[in-house]
Amino acid sequence: MDKNLKQLTNRIYYLPHDPGTDRPILSAICGDDETLIVDAGNSDKHAKLFLGELNQIQMANYQSVVLTHWHWDHSFGTNQMNLFTIAHENTKMHLEKMAEYDWSNEALDNRVEKGLENQFCSDMIKKEFGEDRNITITLPNTTFKDKYEIDLGGIRCEVKHVGGDHSDDSSIIFVEEEKVLFLGDCLYPSIYTQQPQYKIDNVRRLLEIIEMFDAEIYVISHEPPLNKEDFIGYIMLLKLICDLTQKHQSNHLNLVDELSSQLNRPLSQLEEEIVYCFINGLTVD
Ligand SMILES: [Zn+2]
Repeated sequence: MDKNLKQLTNRIYYLPHDPGTDRPILSAICGDDETLIVDAGNSDKHAKLFLGELNQIQMANYQSVVLTHWHWDHSFGTNQMNLFTIAHENTKMHLEKMAEYDWSNEALDNRVEKGLENQFCSDMIKKEFGEDRNITITLPNTTFKDKYEIDLGGIRCEVKHVGGDHSDDSSIIFVEEEKVLFLGDCLYPSIYTQQPQYKIDNVRRLLEIIEMFDAEIYVISHEPPLNKEDFIGYIMLLKLICDLTQKHQSNHLNLVDELSSQLNRPLSQLEEEIVYCFINGLTVD
């Protein structure tokens, strides 16, 4: 796994995601006056690693960090970063709730049992932090409802709340000058439901908002950045599965048959999983 800082565009750098402990991409948008960081990382160590890399390339003018959503892997590095923190009002609400949690193995296992914590997140927190679990939840310094704009000097960022199945507070960041759209985890299915799910209406609404931004590079937190062509392929697939789920409802066999005949090949594992999430989303909860 490549753990070094990479340059995405003229003024944007990022530290690639690391599936080992579910670390998301961390990015820096560098204006003439200041640098904005996107996501705080999953631990003190992760935050320190990223800021250290920025210092090495003399990009140390970072003053603020924006959180794409509240999940641990994006927010636990906030305390270590010690920057002006921008987040959606629901992100703050979720972090306030999380600040009361105990992070011992017993407490984590207990929350998993009660359905308050996801098994995968619990495993990854244990792996990232080891036994010495020094976790301090820090609340944002400012919050927004719909959007937040920030001028970094010669480069402007628009932070827009989009919500969606993955997390109700998901926000995306558009950098018009660089034609880059940071999507966080907003396109992923829910993780705090009994089964991971996508709801047809939520996905359609989300894609409609995302398509309004004229980007060339799309940054999804747990995978390498995508160019426009690959991203369009991805959203066309989601739209097609929306349509076919609406048509076939929970008839899994017919849904998979028509999808694979339209794609002209058997489904990949990822496609199978997406179909499964859409069928899960049909149930009323
Ligand atoms: Zn997430």
